[in-house]
This record gives sequence, C-alpha cells and structure tokens, in this order.
Amino acid sequence: PHHRLLVTMSSQESTINPRTNKPYSANYYTQLKLAQALPVSQHIDALLKAISENVVTIVVADTGSGKTTQLPKAIVLSEPLRKSERKVVVTQPRRLAADGTSKRIAEELDVELGDFVGVKYRGINRVKPETRLEVVTDGTLLAAATRDPTLCQYGVIIVDEAHQHTTDTDLLLGLLKELAQSRKDDLKIIIMSATIDTERFKNYFAGSVVMPVPGKAHEVDIRYLKKPVEESRMDVKIASLILQIHLTEDTGNILVFVPGVGLIDSIITSVANGLREYAVDDVGELDCYPLYGTQSSEEQDLAVEAVAPASRNGKPGRKVVISTNIAETSVTLTGMVYVVDSLMMKSKEWNPRNESQWLRAKDCSKATAKQRAGRVGRTRPGIVYRMCTQEAFETQLIEHAVPAILSSDMLSECVSIKKLGRDPLTFPYIERPASETIAKALGILQQFGAINVKGELTTRGEQIGRLPIDVYPAAMLLDSARIGCSDEIITIVSMLEATEGIPGQCFVRPKTKEEKAKLQRVKRHFSCRSGDHIMLLNIYMAWRTAEATGTTEAFLLENLLAGSVPRSAHTTRMQLVAMLTALPEHEWKLVNPDPSHPEYYAYIMKGLSTGSFTRIAKRDPFDLKRYTTVSCGAEAEFALDVDISPAPEWVMYHEFTGSQISCVSPIPAEHLIATMPEYWREAELKHHGHVKDGLIKAIAKMTGQSEAVVRGGMPKPSSAP
Ligand code: ADP
Ligand code: MG
Repeated sequence: PHHRLLVTMSSQESTINPRTNKPYSANYYTQLKLAQALPVSQHIDALLKAISENVVTIVVADTGSGKTTQLPKAIVLSEPLRKSERKVVVTQPRRLAADGTSKRIAEELDVELGDFVGVKYRGINRVKPETRLEVVTDGTLLAAATRDPTLCQYGVIIVDEAHQHTTDTDLLLGLLKELAQSRKDDLKIIIMSATIDTERFKNYFAGSVVMPVPGKAHEVDIRYLKKPVEESRMDVKIASLILQIHLTEDTGNILVFVPGVGLIDSIITSVANGLREYAVDDVGELDCYPLYGTQSSEEQDLAVEAVAPASRNGKPGRKVVISTNIAETSVTLTGMVYVVDSLMMKSKEWNPRNESQWLRAKDCSKATAKQRAGRVGRTRPGIVYRMCTQEAFETQLIEHAVPAILSSDMLSECVSIKKLGRDPLTFPYIERPASETIAKALGILQQFGAINVKGELTTRGEQIGRLPIDVYPAAMLLDSARIGCSDEIITIVSMLEATEGIPGQCFVRPKTKEEKAKLQRVKRHFSCRSGDHIMLLNIYMAWRTAEATGTTEAFLLENLLAGSVPRSAHTTRMQLVAMLTALPEHEWKLVNPDPSHPEYYAYIMKGLSTGSFTRIAKRDPFDLKRYTTVSCGAEAEFALDVDISPAPEWVMYHEFTGSQISCVSPIPAEHLIATMPEYWREAELKHHGHVKDGLIKAIAKMTGQSEAVVRGGMPKPSSAP
C-alpha cells in the first residue's frame, strides 16, 4: 500500500504544475516532447554534474541545440543547484533576445511570464520577489551590479551568447571573473557560447571546465555565387535571389541578413517591383518584414510572429524577414528554410589618434556566417546562399569577429566601469583595449564634466550613464532643457540615432538623373541653408505633420524619403523623453524656443554645440575643400552627401570617418566660444596656423580684447636693442 501511495502521488504531481497549482496544458506536453529531443536535454545530467562541481562552466554547442531554453530551465528546476533562496539569472546581449527567451521558457514551463519566470531590461520590469528565473540584458545585470556589487541575490548567473563579445558582455565577464573568486562557495557561473573559440574563456576563468555538447542538426546546403557582386548592386542582387527562391523552391520562409536599414528598405522596394511583373495567378503570396534594432517592439514582434500567407493556386505563400544582425542569435524565427547572407555587418570603429569614429558596413567573420547559417536546418533541411564566391569566402573573411570593445571609443564603457566602482585602466578585461584609448576616453569625459579631476564620476556622469546613447548626444540632451530647446535637440539626436549619423540615410537612393536633381532640391528645402542638423529636424517635423493628416505615403514619395528613419526616430524619441524626465537630480522637460523667431535655427545650433564642441572643423583659407578638426588637428573633407555651399569657415559635424566628416552644419565661431570659453582658449593654445588665427579672431571679437592681447597677452617684439 505504501508503494501504491507513492505512485499515485507522483502521477498526480506530474499532471499538476507545482508552479501554478493548475493542471498542465496540452501545449506543455507537446513542448516537453520537442524539448526532450534537443541535444542539450540529452546531455543534461552531465551538464548539471559539471556545474555542481565547478564554479565556472563553459557550455559550447551549436545553435539550435537548446542551450538558451533548456539549460536555464533545468537549472531552475534542480533544487540543489538553485542554492536555497537565491535566484537564477540569464543574460542576453539584446532586448529582443531577452524578450524571446523569457517568453519561450515561460511557455515551456507552462507559466505566465512575470511570475516564476521574469524578464527585465531598460523600460521593462516583469520581475516579482517570487520570480526564480530572471531573463535580462547584460547591460541590465551590469546596472544591478552598480547597486549590489556582489550580485548576492543570484545563486546562478548564466551568460548567454558570450562569443558575441558585446561590450556589455565583456564588462560583465570582467566582473564575474572577480566574483568567481570572492563568491566561490555560493555562486555558479555558466558561460554559453556557440563557436569553438573556447580557449579564450577557459584561460580567462582560472579553473573553469569546458563542456562541449555534440549536436545533431539537419543538412544545410551552402551555396556561393559564381561571380562576385559589387557592393552597390547588393540590394538588386538579393532581391532577385529572393524572387528566384520564391518562384522555384519548395515551401519555407526566407531570412535575409544585411548590414543596415537602408539596404532593408531598398530590397523590399525591389522585391515589390519585381513581383509586379508577374500575373497574380502565377506566383504565391510573398510578405516581406523588416527587422532591426531601432524598430518599435510592436514592429519587431510582427516580423517574428507573423505566419506565412497561405498558398495560392498551388504556389506556396512565403514570409521573408530582412534583418540586420539582430536575427543572428536568440530570436527564433520559425519556419525558416532559406538564408540569404550578404556576409556584411555594420560595425563602429574608433581611432583614438585622430578621434574619428567610423560606422560602416564591412565583411563579417566566418564565425558570424556560420551563426547565420545556423538559423536554418533546425527542424528540416535548409539552404544558405552566401553573397560571394567560395574562394572569396575562404580567403578574405576573418575567422572570428573582433570583440566590440576593441573598436569602441570607450567613453560609455569607462562610465559603466566607474559606476561599478572600478578603474578603467586596471579593469580585468577579457579583451584589453589600448591604454591610449582608455586614457583619451577619460580625458574627454573630464571635458564633459562627467568625471572630476580626482577621476570620480560626477552627478552629470551618473546621468549620462543612465542614457542608452553615446556620451556626446547624452551631454547635449542634458543641457538642452536649460538652454531652452530640448524639444528640437531630442528630435535631432533621435534622427541621428536612426540614420546612424549619416543624414543621407533618410532618403531612398535616387535611380535616375532627374531623381538626383530632385533629391538635391529636397535636401535644400529641408535644410533651409542651415545644414544637416536642421535638415534632420525639419524632415521629422514634416513627417509628424504628414502622419497627423494621414498623408504619410504621399509625403515620403514626394520627398524621396525612407519612412523607416522618422518612424524609428519617433520610437527612440519617446524612449529618451521618458528616461530624461525620470532622471534623478535633473529637472528635464520638453521646451522649445519660438519657431517664428529669426534666430530660431541659430539658437538650436548653439544648443547642439554644447555636446558637439569637440566636433568642430575649420576650413583651410586657400583650399576650400579642406578642413582641419579642432580637437586634434586632423585633415578632413565633406562626405559625398554633404551639400553646403559656399563652404563655411567653421562647421560642426557628427561623424568623422578618418578622412570625411558627415552630418555637417555651418556654425559661427562666436557661438562656440560663448558656450565653452575655457575649452576654446585651451584649443587655441594647442593649435598653430589658420586654426589658431581663426580662434584668436573669434575670441577677440567675443571678449572685446585686441587680437594681440588674446594671442597670449605678450607684447609684440619691439625694435629696441
Ligand atoms: P541554442 O540556444 O542552443 O541556439 P535554443 O534553446 O535557442 O538553442 O533553441 C532550441 C530549439 O528550441 C530551437 O531549435 C527551436 O526549435 C526551439 N525554439 C527556441 N525558441 C523558440 C521559440 N521562441 N519559438 C519556437 N521554437 C523555439
Ligand atoms: Mg541560444
């Protein structure tokens, strides 16, 4: 009888979900069966044993083997590992990934998201005291560490997608390296990675163990181009490949990887044009969805969750998702059978020598291409099209992506490290940036008043650290309310985010000569002779008006504009307003100067110069195409899409790519000196030649002193003995 009782109890237990005290749903059993077949589930005992015996366990398995979904679930359900009342936390490099992962794990455990399983990142907090498993972004966990340096509420910390080496992941690893020592008796650390590059992690965490999980996946057929394709033809080529797959291949959705939003738009347009050449009866339905980081979460959900249209006349309907590298990891797009990979990605590179930051599309690594290919072949065989020749792939692509921290300007990173109470120069980086870069970053932060002379983070530095944007625009936004034009400046900053600092991205690429001429007229119309910053502001304002009157489509068409830019700026703008108004010790509010005032634009430019004072260049007196940057005397010229003539003496720019400046506006030198007198005085002392002369002239004009006095107060050499 005793035995019988046990059997009944355990069978009862298996139909009632102990986390909700309700019977399991039918979906629970379906998902359980699928989950149990995944490679990670099949090796779960060995994994849990390794985790219980070591402080740091490195789990390596191919994409789709169940690392993200199965391991956290198994750990949170394993009583001994959960370590009494401490929680389990899983980090993801992106918000979208945190969303997807938490939803999926909650579904598999048959619980409502926000109870047993929670999710937390900037702007979202669905975690309760009784939550046992938190899914967060790595930035969120870093922020938690600034409040609680030992992260003592957590008993298990799982870092997912560690091989991506985002700067936040790398900073978090530095922190965990120390916690692995100081909390070695009550903390388990698990590093999950998809590539075979495990040596780096193993050497970094002393005494860690590597657990490779052999995986089985379906056949993936990799195809290359016969001839290389020019970068400028990439959109057309990809669009025709999408159509070719659609017209000739079996059912299955298509996932396309491109470097940026501009290419997404032009591919969608080309595909739509291509489809129009066919009679409706001859082709199946084809729905294209863009997917990128600055979209609103509704738009992202749409791309992830939409199902393929039904077949028509026996021709399969298909869903195509055209994405930046955001779909590379963690977001699971179901039903994907074909991948089209441009083999390119956007990356930001910083050169401390001439203080130039370059966001550009460049070749991705082989590891990234493998990761992208791993998005198919999970539930059935797949085909991957790589947009280059096999030879170029083998010989020209680097093996592994360069960790983001090595190409960063380290400004935001130094703020984060300071917030953790640590020193950026001695922080135990897994990938150490050049000391020169760190020193330069600390210098710039001091100029911004983010750290004081003792190297401590100031209140202003704290505030800058709370904003999810670069230090320059953050400083600009903080001051904008005081200056009285925060409404305009937040719009410009949001537009700069949406265009990645290249205003040309607002427009669709002109195809004909007439369109080119028209584009020039449009740009002049929006910039009102006041430069690119004002153009961004006016484009957004006009878009808002069009939205309000329901004429957006005609407006975009008429002005050759890409709708994605103002839409994404709008989302960013709302998020920034919410964050700024919630800042402690800062009374930020939306204010604007009178738009009908004749000095309206000049006023806004003055406001912008508070955050861009290090991004000023002066024209050469003899060569009107040549500029010199004031911050470090580097030579620069206008990027191709900059259209200001005559060339102004002084300009403010947003991006400096090493030889070209983009997003350029004229600015009178007096404005600069009025807002930042000490900085300009110092700059003047550093320079010689025409930049020095120009600064002296402006300072003299502003202060009413004679140029000779400004020149250092030294009397002119006299003709005496
Ligand atoms: P890994 O982290 O190793 O790449 P995951 O745990 O993300 O693997 O995924 C394992 C499997 O679970 C995938 O192959 C997929 O079939 C399924 N899966 C994961 N997330 C979802 C989701 N949001 N919707 C549907 N299926 C999913
Ligand atoms: Mg994963």
